[in-house]
Amino acid sequence: MKCSSCSQTIQKMFLDKIRGTYIKTDGKIVPICSDCQQTYTVSVIKSRVRP
Ligand SMILES: [Zn+2]
Repeated sequence: MKCSSCSQTIQKMFLDKIRGTYIKTDGKIVPICSDCQQTYTVSVIKSRVRP
């Protein structure tokens, strides 16, 4: 699974949790890595997500 913002691979943790989060944008749920989550606000992440 790759981050929808920076395209880096997101590590999976125990029980299929990802090292990051999911955000909903344009009706889609996309994975975001913890680096982007900490660096950008949600609105910036949404603007960076590629379709
Ligand atoms: Zn990222």
